[in-house]
Amino acid sequence: MSDQKKIFQCTQCGFCCHGDTTVSLDENDQQRMAAALDLPAREVADTYWRTNGSIIQMKTVQGHCIFYDEGCTVYHGRPWRCAQWPLVPALLDDENNFLIIRESCPGINRELSYQEFRKILARLIGSEPQ
Ligand code: SF4
Ligand code: SF4
Repeated sequence: MSDQKKIFQCTQCGFCCHGDTTVSLDENDQQRMAAALDLPAREVADTYWRTNGSIIQMKTVQGHCIFYDEGCTVYHGRPWRCAQWPLVPALLDDENNFLIIRESCPGINRELSYQEFRKILARLIGSEPQ
């Protein structure tokens, strides 16, 4: 089993795609998403994004990301923050972060202690545990 699967296997529950806001998209995210949708960036922006100053996020519909439909419908063009979730570096910093994120994400392996989880995650993201 890979290191990633030891600590996390997505159940596709969709919890992280729900809420009234979404992650923000950087330039690479915007280009990757437009390419994945095979649409001009202008059309993608009008149809799928909302802009607040310099922040671009995906629109939400009925309390979830516009791309959520029993799974991610823009999977190969999803923002990097979606691809990273829930294995974020902040999990290495503080057990409280781990407990909060684990509470919302059923894909995290509940059989591991924080120290066990942290050791594997540190290996995965290239940062040694202290
Ligand atoms: S909350 Fe976790 S298990 Fe559920 S879809 Fe998101 S990443 Fe997967
Ligand atoms: S882009 Fe996909 S993975 Fe990211 S919030 Fe929307 S539906 Fe979920």
